[in-house]
Amino acid sequence: MTSQRTRLRMVERLRTQGIDDEVVLSVMGSIPRHLFIEEALASRAYEDVALPINYGQTISSPWIVARMTELLRANSELGKVLEIGTGCGYQTAVLAQLAQKVYSIERIGPLLTRTRIRLQELQIRNVHLRHADGLRGFAEAAPFDGIIMTAVTTHVPPALLEQLAMGGRMVFPKGSQKQNLCVIERNSQGYTETVLEEVNFVPMLPGVIKK
Ligand code: SAH
Repeated sequence: MTSQRTRLRMVERLRTQGIDDEVVLSVMGSIPRHLFIEEALASRAYEDVALPINYGQTISSPWIVARMTELLRANSELGKVLEIGTGCGYQTAVLAQLAQKVYSIERIGPLLTRTRIRLQELQIRNVHLRHADGLRGFAEAAPFDGIIMTAVTTHVPPALLEQLAMGGRMVFPKGSQKQNLCVIERNSQGYTETVLEEVNFVPMLPGVIKK
């Protein structure tokens, strides 16, 4: 149930569901998603569902991860990427294969500790994790070619807009009752926003949880 064949079936399904960036599909076909989920649920890792990962959070479904990653990549190489909401680190691991360097921020300390160990075990080395409130971004490492938020907000945090590089793009869920995926692109004229399909994410919350 956790074999390469199961993973390839997931990729095949994503393709029929409209994901057409073959680079993203190939990366998702190579990452052992079941290792990001507690053992009791690992057999469901490749189903197209979000699953609980402790502390009331969820790992995003394969389709969401694929869709957000293809929107962020827009068919080109990624340099520096900032992720807000590390969670179990699956999206982080996907990005790590597609970007030169990934900075990822998580507000729940114990969740991040577990993820840090998991990414080390998988020998993923181009990821820098930080325990903090992601709404403030990561000024020391800015600007970013891509920013991805994996929790929903009603307004885009201004710090994140500032930390987006010229020519960069940001992919995130926006809304409250009704949420949509949004893409913001930055160019010399300013920012343009595109609103896409309806989605369902856990909320972005302020502050940090230590234990
Ligand atoms: N990509 C993750 C998604 C986890 S759910 C995965 O697939 O596992 C969203 C995550 O965002 C949660 O772990 C939650 O704790 C985190 N989060 C919410 N608000 C945050 C904030 N202000 N700063 C950093 N992380 C935040």
